[in-house]
Amino acid sequence: MEIESILLKQRDFFKTQQTKSLAFRKMYLEKLKNLIISHENMLYEAINKDFGKSKFDTFTTELSFILNDINYYIKNLKSLSKPKKVRTNLVNQLGNSKIYADPLGCVLVIGAWNYPYQLSFSPIIAAMAAGNCCILKPSEIAENTMKAMAKIINENFPPEYLYVYEGGIGETTELLKLKFDKIFFTGSTKVGKIIYQAAAEHLTPVVLELGGKSPAIVTKDADLEVAAKRIVWGKFLNAGQTCVAPDYLLVEESVHEQFLEMLRKYITEFKYGPDSEHYTRIINQRNFQRLMNLINKEKVYFGGNFDEKNLFIEPTLLNNVSWEDDVMQEEIFGPILPVISFTNFNLVLTTILELEKPLAAYLFTRNSEEKEAFTTKLSFGGGCINDVIMHLGNDRLPFGGVGNSGIGSYHGIYGFEAFSHQKSILEKATWGEPDIKYPPYSEKKLSWIRKLL
Ligand code: NAD
Repeated sequence: MEIESILLKQRDFFKTQQTKSLAFRKMYLEKLKNLIISHENMLYEAINKDFGKSKFDTFTTELSFILNDINYYIKNLKSLSKPKKVRTNLVNQLGNSKIYADPLGCVLVIGAWNYPYQLSFSPIIAAMAAGNCCILKPSEIAENTMKAMAKIINENFPPEYLYVYEGGIGETTELLKLKFDKIFFTGSTKVGKIIYQAAAEHLTPVVLELGGKSPAIVTKDADLEVAAKRIVWGKFLNAGQTCVAPDYLLVEESVHEQFLEMLRKYITEFKYGPDSEHYTRIINQRNFQRLMNLINKEKVYFGGNFDEKNLFIEPTLLNNVSWEDDVMQEEIFGPILPVISFTNFNLVLTTILELEKPLAAYLFTRNSEEKEAFTTKLSFGGGCINDVIMHLGNDRLPFGGVGNSGIGSYHGIYGFEAFSHQKSILEKATWGEPDIKYPPYSEKKLSWIRKLL
């Protein structure tokens, strides 16, 4: 079907007001939940074909998120959509003031490949909960998951409400010529700029969920064992192809050697070998080559082995890394962890402040002054103290970037708000209004108005 005609149908359908009914929204959210559950095996197989992601990882980092999102919105739909009463000021008496969460209309969601289900379904679930029609364009890079999502949606939902449009850059470029009421994009900062420019043509608001180099700092006051275990888990989950993975490590010099040994110990314990069914592969040849070029053999502390045929790169620690090295010039997005040592904590914060604002930042310490300085001095999307990535697991926290790492946020109530317009309504009584607002004016009226305003 031609995509423009689908959007026109969605526009007509939105005008029927059907998507605004809570019963309608609940019915389709339930339907999507049941379809995901009944197609679980198909979803596991597709993602395994795309980049060897295991059933365990797919459930814990993708499907469980999606099912939780659906349950959250079904449970909270009534309270989220209920008009919020706010105080009415003196000049607007006698009246009452309310804010209505108004669906935006027809929205476009563009997904990334690295968590293909979560990054495509979570935004459309929020869009559905908020009462919108939606076109989803998943990433073509994870082709099998794109097809699986298209099968689930296009065979079971009316296209005038929800539709998956399969395609790559050409198809996305076509889509971007059309006028949407919101574009929700997940992907690189480079493509984010293309999306933002295209959206500006139609004054379409955007959420841009982008990437960047997210630092993790480990000071001498950290619980080093806990830090090493959590960092190894978070960095090599999905073979480092996670937008909020710790991109590089800054370790205080006095514990540097000891910490590297602990990292090595956990990588070995977690058994991330070439035969592991729990260690994800690199998505494609292009990224494999890009990553291999970032491994400076002279700086390999651990790992560095690879199997090109199977797109396997061993978890790799790089030591004695400097800020000028190639690996520090771009988001790594793979299983390579550069480690830089530091002696002055405040200087480290100053250095990070000089860089683009990251999507995430992490600090491992038990020192409350360091915690305070990290939280208040740095600007980044979100993060953790004494953990990595897990802030995403709390849907009461908004998830999104700042500066180069993104615009806007979602998850829980923030996802609902991202796809709603806050419409203000002041309702006035038709009686009891003093005459001072109306001409002819006088000094006496002005003095009353001064008192009121
Ligand atoms: P990408 O920017 O290459 O692609 C994302 C989407 O944009 C895809 O659907 C793709 O088809 C489309 N696209 C690509 N080039 C385009 C163009 N020239 N014109 C129009 N559309 C185009 O990103 P990716 O490789 O899929 O994902 C990796 C990046 O995404 C990393 O930077 C990562 O940090 C970031 N990311 C961010 C989040 C987040 O939630 N903030 C999550 C996952 C990934």
